[in-house]
Amino acid sequence: MRRGRENRYENLRIYSRLYGKGRYYIFLFIIFSLIVIGGSLVNMVTMNRRNAKNTQEYVNNITDQMANAVSIRLRDKRILVDSIGDSIEYMNGEQYMALQDNFLERKRLISDMDFIAFYDSVDREFYFSGELPEGIAADGEHLMELETVRNAVETGKSAIGVEQQYLLYIRPLYRNGQRTGFLMAGEGEASMRDIIRTGGFSGRSYSCIINKDGQVVLSTADDGAFVYLAQVFYDGEDQELLEKMQVMEDHIDHDEGGIFEFRMANGNDGYLSYTPMGINDWIMLTIVPKNLLSVYSDSFVLRSFIGVLGSIVVSLAFGMTLTGTYNYGRKSLEWLAFYDDITDGINNTEFKQKYMALSEKNDMSGYAVVLLDAVDFKEINEKYGVGVGNEMLKYFYRSIDKNLKKEHLEIAARSEMDHYFLLLKETDPDEIQKRLDAIVSEINSFEDTDLPKNEFEFWEGVSFITDQSMDIMVLQDQARMALKDKKTSGKCLFYDDDIAERIRQARELDRTFEQALVDGDFRLYLQPKVNMRARSIAGAEALARWYHPERGIVPPVQFIPYLEDSGKIRKLDRYIFEQTCIWLSRRKAAGEELYPVSVNLSRNHFMEENFLDWFVETTEKYGVDNHLLEFELTESVFMNDAHIRKVRDAIYKMHEHGFTLSIDDFGIGYSSLSLIREFDVDVLKLDRSFFLDLDSRKAREVISCLVNLARELDIQIVVEGIETYRQIEYLKILNCDVVQGYFFSKPLPEEEFGKWSDAFDFEQYGG
Ligand code: C2E
Ligand code: MG
Ligand code: MG
Repeated sequence: MRRGRENRYENLRIYSRLYGKGRYYIFLFIIFSLIVIGGSLVNMVTMNRRNAKNTQEYVNNITDQMANAVSIRLRDKRILVDSIGDSIEYMNGEQYMALQDNFLERKRLISDMDFIAFYDSVDREFYFSGELPEGIAADGEHLMELETVRNAVETGKSAIGVEQQYLLYIRPLYRNGQRTGFLMAGEGEASMRDIIRTGGFSGRSYSCIINKDGQVVLSTADDGAFVYLAQVFYDGEDQELLEKMQVMEDHIDHDEGGIFEFRMANGNDGYLSYTPMGINDWIMLTIVPKNLLSVYSDSFVLRSFIGVLGSIVVSLAFGMTLTGTYNYGRKSLEWLAFYDDITDGINNTEFKQKYMALSEKNDMSGYAVVLLDAVDFKEINEKYGVGVGNEMLKYFYRSIDKNLKKEHLEIAARSEMDHYFLLLKETDPDEIQKRLDAIVSEINSFEDTDLPKNEFEFWEGVSFITDQSMDIMVLQDQARMALKDKKTSGKCLFYDDDIAERIRQARELDRTFEQALVDGDFRLYLQPKVNMRARSIAGAEALARWYHPERGIVPPVQFIPYLEDSGKIRKLDRYIFEQTCIWLSRRKAAGEELYPVSVNLSRNHFMEENFLDWFVETTEKYGVDNHLLEFELTESVFMNDAHIRKVRDAIYKMHEHGFTLSIDDFGIGYSSLSLIREFDVDVLKLDRSFFLDLDSRKAREVISCLVNLARELDIQIVVEGIETYRQIEYLKILNCDVVQGYFFSKPLPEEEFGKWSDAFDFEQYGG
């Protein structure tokens, strides 16, 4: 039992170590999560910054490319216009004359211009092809006054300019070193848009070309975005933007490009990129709404953020589940550790803890520890099954609990099987008896329950707390010992000095047992059995006696129960069996009559596999006929479900080897008649208690019924403990076979048995 308890504590230790580790893992997990979350946040911020930088670089690159593409296109067109001018300059008179016919028109189509005009300032001739823009007259002199044209003609270099939203390519013309006029080609709005929109941003960017004075030279028609810019130029309200513009102006002065972020007129953020075009003093400005570019990067950042957030949520959920599991585990552990799953009440561990807590603050001398043990509870399990059995145990607990005085901090717990410990605030034995009687009658009332009604009896052991420092385990042990001492159901047994002394002595005996066996302090006693019908000696029962050097002859009742507890009984049984074999072989050698002898066999043997082998070997060793030996088993052997297969096997083997088998003390235990039918027994030893009250008709009927049943089943009856002639007479009427008791003889040492048997005369006993 102690081992069981230690095991349970060991399990608890393992569990708590496990859960201790669980806590450690949770701590690690939280740290890990924090690192991940922190890392993600830092990462996100860096990514965002880098992203902004990347975006700017990207916008810059694209606008550079756009500006480049526009410049190239403009230059290409200028080159085209230049080459047309070249052709004109080298024309002969005839060709020159055909100029107006279709040359200009052909060149216009090839160069994809809206118009081409040619002015011969010498002849004052003006030719043109295509449609001249409004506000530009078909008049060479007038055109000469346009600033771009005048500049080009004056410098003698071809030029690009803008007039009336038309992009003009001017090529001054010379002949023989003489200025002879100019060629002009122009592109209108549609082409301009195409030019400026070369580039990207899915058409959602805005571009324009300005000059160093900040005047818009060329723009798409939709230049709303620039309106605000223009306002800034003029109103100068946005200080930050103004500063950025200042930087831009500086850059532009040095023919450098750049980019900055600003709030657009529509309230959205955007980038403004500026790139010198390398044509005139033109600068290409491009505005890109920030969200256009960051739509992807932002969504990426958003995704990352959601990812991190998701991770946090998942981690949190995981953590919570883990904590939940941990808490649940801890609660289960607590439940396991402190509650009894059968009664739903506290278990013995908790009982002890509660006691200890109580004893720290209260004077415990007013309390008593009580142990209640249901008599024959095993029968309930056998009769109704374990389910009902467990319900019954729960019902017991409920009934006990109902009768506790909670205001006095009384507690109760089931400790194991059908054992209940109670802490009652009582010191008067009579009061305790009353309280326990009340509990038992409450149980037997079977109120508020559908459980099968049974009349229950309890063994009751009590120990008083004589010393505040007494350990609860000691108190429980004492209550247990008091209960065991006499085992009188329905009557409280109080642990006292007598019990203490008996127990002390028994423990002492148990401790010295093995040495005593070696020292030969155990003797074989034989008690004769007499066959009433044959009027002769039927045999004997082998019984042990301890010749204690200090205490004299100690009867078995004083040590057998303790040897049973410690398992040492098996050694004693083997010793007595061997002594019996020696005795028989000696008689055999001496040519004396051989009597069958029955030996007691503790149920302890049945836990051992093949325990019978030793007995068989021993009879062989001493050359004793197995038929002379009988094993006496008590009913308890058959009551252990766990070993029932072993019992069956053993019985089978016993018969196989020629041993006989009896059930000892039949009638004091479970008296199960089914046992006789179920197991192949040869002898039934009726307990002496049957014959104590022969005046009772009922008792007589039970006996005669048993005797008849045994006879029917061909089982021999041995009647034990017969002391009086009156009992003998009754047995004669019953036609009973064998009798064992003081009436014929007490158990005798071997030599005395020899003498007794030699002198035996049935007539002597009044027969
Ligand atoms: P048991 O096997 O039922 O043995 C019969 C007991 O009844 C013996 O007590 C015997 O002395 C006693 N007895 C016999 N006739 C009478 C009578 O007319 N009146 C009264 N009052 N008692 C009588 P004992 O020798 O004290 O043994 C007690 C129990 O101890 C035995 O009961 C048996 O169960 C156990 N026992 C004794 N020796 C051994 C042993 O070697 N091994 C085992 N396992 N148990 C043993
Ligand atoms: Mg016996
Ligand atoms: Mg007996």
